[in-house]
Amino acid sequence: METIISLCKRRGFIFPGSELYGGLANSWDYGPLGAQLKKNIKDEWWRRFVEQRSDMVGLDAAVIMNPKVWEASGHLKTFSDPLIECKKCHERFRADHVKDFERCPSCKAEKTFTEAKQFNLMFKTSLGPKEDSASVAYMRPEIAQAMFVNFKNVLDATRKRLPFGIASQGRAFRNEITPGNFIFRTREFDLMELEYFVNESEWEKYFDYWLSQMKQWLKDLGVSEKRLHFVEIPPEDRAHYSKRTVDVEYDYPFGKKELYGLAYRGDFDLTNHSTASKQELTYTDPETNAKFVPHVIEPSFGLDRSVLVALLEAYHEEEAPTSEKEETEKRVVMKFPAWMAPVKVAILPLSKKDELAVVARPLYEQLCKHFACEYDETQSIGKRYRRQDEIGTPYCVTVDFETLSDNAVTVRDRDTMKQERIAIASLAEYLKTKLS
Ligand code: ATP
Repeated sequence: METIISLCKRRGFIFPGSELYGGLANSWDYGPLGAQLKKNIKDEWWRRFVEQRSDMVGLDAAVIMNPKVWEASGHLKTFSDPLIECKKCHERFRADHVKDFERCPSCKAEKTFTEAKQFNLMFKTSLGPKEDSASVAYMRPEIAQAMFVNFKNVLDATRKRLPFGIASQGRAFRNEITPGNFIFRTREFDLMELEYFVNESEWEKYFDYWLSQMKQWLKDLGVSEKRLHFVEIPPEDRAHYSKRTVDVEYDYPFGKKELYGLAYRGDFDLTNHSTASKQELTYTDPETNAKFVPHVIEPSFGLDRSVLVALLEAYHEEEAPTSEKEETEKRVVMKFPAWMAPVKVAILPLSKKDELAVVARPLYEQLCKHFACEYDETQSIGKRYRRQDEIGTPYCVTVDFETLSDNAVTVRDRDTMKQERIAIASLAEYLKTKLS
């Protein structure tokens, strides 16, 4: 983790939050490359699960909802974790995360824990200038509820037929007792979730279908199968309304922990909101005229955890040849899948001389129209290749003095380090094919 965290800071993927003021524990800011990497993952998810499907529609809802939503959903009563405190050092822990209750993990004092009490994770705020009970509101701890609350609006506006889904991406807030492990557990994070509405009789089929979709997504994210675990949650650990839940776990450097989740939520949410709002949240089958409350399959993807596994999977250290014959040196290379890489192509004129810039600059401007490009003319070419490897750029295009006579450039492949001479006239097409 230390290696990844330091690379992230050095190259501009992720910075410690509020660092100028001494930081803020467990908060992180995505830098220039991290913001692009995160956006690429988010956009690919949206393209795949919303734009490319006729059975799916999107929703972008408010972070702060009417507090009645959280009452009806059960969050006000039960969205809590068991909290214990060491009576000696007053450090607080999540009781379900403590392995040895004999000793405090922090100060090592023996048998000093308080009784566990439930700690609600929702962030409270107040709306408007008065701070009283009437102005209390909550920052959403998950994004799913808006999809249930808007079920009728979506149905009326789109006239979708079952099975269909509503997808959403956005920020969620949880006052976690023990955040930590870089961007794995923070107090604000981004979620990508969808609620897939089905006829109850078909829930098992669609549960399996979404499990296979999640597996395919993970494969395309470049996640190695050997580090993934699909854990069937036993009935006693599942929410009472769920007949099946699968946690997708990953072998992080700090242990096997949750990455995503897939839950069958039955008709729990729509029924609760219908009862609380006194409005009908049903679906009428156009063929049989049968009216019923649809059941829901919910695949839930943490975006920050997706970025974390993408970084961990991409990181490689290799021995690479140096310009000195027979010698090798360590090369760090981020092997992101091409679609995910924050920079796709780097344009590197061999020297800063104007005669190369007059060719390289327009080339950069032309390629920028097709791919995210970077122009870099400082330092030795070896150092520039190393930087591009570390930020995971799939292709480097070098403009040299020969370019002036042969109208061709050298294209270097990040993974094989092989170099090919390509005519400028066919460069964009060449790169398009390689990057697709
Ligand atoms: P845990 O038991 O680890 O607190 P959870 O089971 O409550 O997690 P869910 O409510 O299922 O988590 O959240 C859905 C997804 O949101 C998770 O699979 C994970 O990817 C992501 N997630 C949850 N909490 C956090 C957090 N504090 N920071 C970053 N991502 C999170």
